[in-house]
Amino acid sequence: MVELIAGLRAERIHENLERIREELTRARAGAGGGSGEVEILAASKYVACRDLPILAEAGVRLLGENRAQDLEEKVAAHGSLFEWDFIGQLQSRRVRLIVPHVRLIHSVASESALRELGRHREQARPGLAILIEVNLAGEQGKAGIAPEDLDAFIALAPVPVVGLMTMPPLSERPEDSRRWFAALRALAEDRDLHHLSMGTSQDYVVAAEEGATIVRIGTNLYH
Ligand SMILES: *Cc1c(COP(=O)(O)O)cnc(C)c1O
Repeated sequence: MVELIAGLRAERIHENLERIREELTRARAGAGGGSGEVEILAASKYVACRDLPILAEAGVRLLGENRAQDLEEKVAAHGSLFEWDFIGQLQSRRVRLIVPHVRLIHSVASESALRELGRHREQARPGLAILIEVNLAGEQGKAGIAPEDLDAFIALAPVPVVGLMTMPPLSERPEDSRRWFAALRALAEDRDLHHLSMGTSQDYVVAAEEGATIVRIGTNLYH
């Protein structure tokens, strides 16, 4: 279970947001590529439901939640303050709880989840689209579709697939993520998929340099 962060302050988060935004702009410019802004998604798993208005006050507009039940509770209480995505491990039996509320699901990685998406398409928020999570390094026990299985998997999707997401192997050094981010970009480009959801507190600058369209940030934003 993730620990909630206590003592969140809107001013502090606002400063962090501005700093991260500048770093992302610089990373994009330096890479000489990439049109369009990199969206900053704030990971909401660290934030108690009652504290969400602090994030809104700080200027956070896009949240990514990890757990279906928490998503339901948070949307019920503060739904209109934010745009909502789902970034957590997608359990097929919870798909129906998620689809009414979210813009994007970043983490689709099983055929059973695709089947449930098909089954509950009618209840989905209009425009709901998905990203496929890719396990680039072939790590055991980690969610994600293998690159070689990607096309067959996408062919089964009952809702639009608009991008790819990855969590690279854990490392202390942000530079270690670069090859995985570049590999994800290549897979997306080959398939004309627009969104690249990659980069967390640890390596979002490298991710932006490699073409991320959405970075998912928790720790660095709140402290
Ligand atoms: C929590 C989480 C993040 C944010 O991680 P930080 O290291 O706190 O920035 C990003 N992506 C996913 C899928 C997460 O669960």
